[in-house]
Amino acid sequence: MADIKGSFYRHKKTCQFCADQVGEIDYKDIKLLSRFITERGKMVPSRVSATCAKHQRSVSKAIKRARFLALLPFVND
Ligand SMILES: [Zn+2]
Repeated sequence: MADIKGSFYRHKKTCQFCADQVGEIDYKDIKLLSRFITERGKMVPSRVSATCAKHQRSVSKAIKRARFLALLPFVND
């Protein structure tokens, strides 16, 4: 059961994609994706970007795809 009462008025960072009702993230949207990678090209952790697990997966998929198509740089971890 969802805790509806508790979710009211709770000041919590919410996932921007859930707020915007975004389904899959577009890998061609480099401007958007670049907000989820650091200047060194690493992915920003979901706890920092306040992205939910579902959309974090979608973001990571989009980033991988964009890297594959050379829209974003690869990183050596
Ligand atoms: Zn979300």
